[in-house]
Amino acid sequence: MNIEKEINRRRTFAIISHPDAGKTTLTEKFLLYGGAIQMAGAVKGKKHSKHAVSDWMEIEKQRGISVTSSVMQFEYDNYCINILDTPGHQDFSEDTYRTLMAADSAVMVIDGSRGIEPQTRKLFKVCAMRHIPIFTFINKMDREAKNPFDLMEELETEFGIGTYPVNWPIGSGDRFKGVYDRDKKHILAFDNSERGKKKADKIEVSLDDPDTLYQLIGEELTDQLIEDVELLDGASYEFDLNQVHHGQLTPVFFGSALTNFGVEPFLQNFLKMTPSPLARKAQDTIVDPVSSPFSAFVFKIQANMNKAHRDRIAFMRICSGRFDKDMNVYHVQRNKSMKLSQPQQMMAQDREVIDEAYAGDIIGVFDPGIFSIGDTVCDPKMKIKFDNIPTFAPEHFELIIQKDTLKRKQFVKGVSQIAQEGAIQIYQEPSTGVEKVYVGVVGVLQFEVLEYRLKQEYNVDIIREPLSYQYVRWIQNEDIDIKSLKISLDAKLLQDFRGNYLILFNSTYTIKSILDRNPGLILAEVNTK
Ligand code: GDP
Repeated sequence: MNIEKEINRRRTFAIISHPDAGKTTLTEKFLLYGGAIQMAGAVKGKKHSKHAVSDWMEIEKQRGISVTSSVMQFEYDNYCINILDTPGHQDFSEDTYRTLMAADSAVMVIDGSRGIEPQTRKLFKVCAMRHIPIFTFINKMDREAKNPFDLMEELETEFGIGTYPVNWPIGSGDRFKGVYDRDKKHILAFDNSERGKKKADKIEVSLDDPDTLYQLIGEELTDQLIEDVELLDGASYEFDLNQVHHGQLTPVFFGSALTNFGVEPFLQNFLKMTPSPLARKAQDTIVDPVSSPFSAFVFKIQANMNKAHRDRIAFMRICSGRFDKDMNVYHVQRNKSMKLSQPQQMMAQDREVIDEAYAGDIIGVFDPGIFSIGDTVCDPKMKIKFDNIPTFAPEHFELIIQKDTLKRKQFVKGVSQIAQEGAIQIYQEPSTGVEKVYVGVVGVLQFEVLEYRLKQEYNVDIIREPLSYQYVRWIQNEDIDIKSLKISLDAKLLQDFRGNYLILFNSTYTIKSILDRNPGLILAEVNTK
């Protein structure tokens, strides 16, 4: 098997959106084109929960939402595609951010009637931090949408990114007639009769054929389109693939995932523009995906998938080379040679044990409790360590106390293990030895998951005290005298389990005032130490 060929045909991306923008529907349609599912409507019946891909925990089933993100692989047009799903629910977790560390690009789904929404904003920030390419799919054009020029301006001003509309909508809502393809210079007409059950038929008409155009979309929309296209060609950004690859320019597509309109052209263009697996930084080394032997890093740990076994699955992103199930690998952080146990992959809905995988792929391996987020696993000949996965700022904080003080050991073990998986962050007051654990989470649901799991898996009951802090900043100064810091009563100095100092704040005003009172203090929102 030709390793280079296998790697070059891989595309690994995450889909990001605010809940309800249509991420699940779009994913489902991608899988439909890939032939991974026969009929749309089967990805994860999250609302009518049949067998959701990631419904691994009671709490998730009860709520009918995805607590953790999952990954799917399918083939299309000789590409091997890995989609990383990021939970769309309000209560998303740090996992969502970390998933973006494993992707080479992101597809941002936006509801055309709503424009940019809070969760889109948060996820965009992480993509921008990594400078990965971002592709925009403006969805729900079959509903009344905002003016497309206003949507472009929103993206440009809010995100500071250039936009390049690859196609342009003709009307919206009841008057949605299709899209104009700016490169091919023709129209793809919208036909709502099939309601997205099967692949969309194309009706192609050229802008130079006004008679047919009038018949198809009417006089008013034809005139509007000709005007819009003139304006676009004159005033919008030029297409520049290099800028796309650096996350400075986002190609924009309009469509309607539900009715399956514009999905296939999007997929085709996207696959052409998005890069094959990218080289990764490992301290001073750049690990090339093709010429380097096998290497991977752990970006997610999911516990408890099998209730009977209480096991954990560590998800790894392969960064280079080829993985073979019998190969010996080296676990850098533990300084140990090992075989990876039960390597598996998600193929649409199924989990399958695999024999081989390539750079770009995501594999899950059985984890008896040895892996941590960010760990490097590689060919024993290689001596590399991938850069740490940053710690993202939680927005919700609670103090947790165990009810039964005799269960101190189980409590500490449970909280530490769950923190090690990366679902929660735990902090303590510096060197006081106080028996209190501060917990920070990105999404509030994690508190419930924590309480539930401590009870189920460790037989520990806790009392949860909500705290009013909303912000965390890590202290970046190497040689800081903690005792001399001037910290007001509305902030709290703590230490995370790696020993890093951090401060919790009630408001951005407090952050500013503490910075003013402590000249030279350096605070960071995302911690890479
Ligand atoms: P997610 O939360 O982002 O995964 O969104 P879903 O894919 O679950 O979609 C949320 C709702 O919007 C569902 O009721 C979908 O049927 C609906 N929806 C998704 N795409 C479209 C679309 O293109 N047009 C319309 N009218 N509705 C859509």
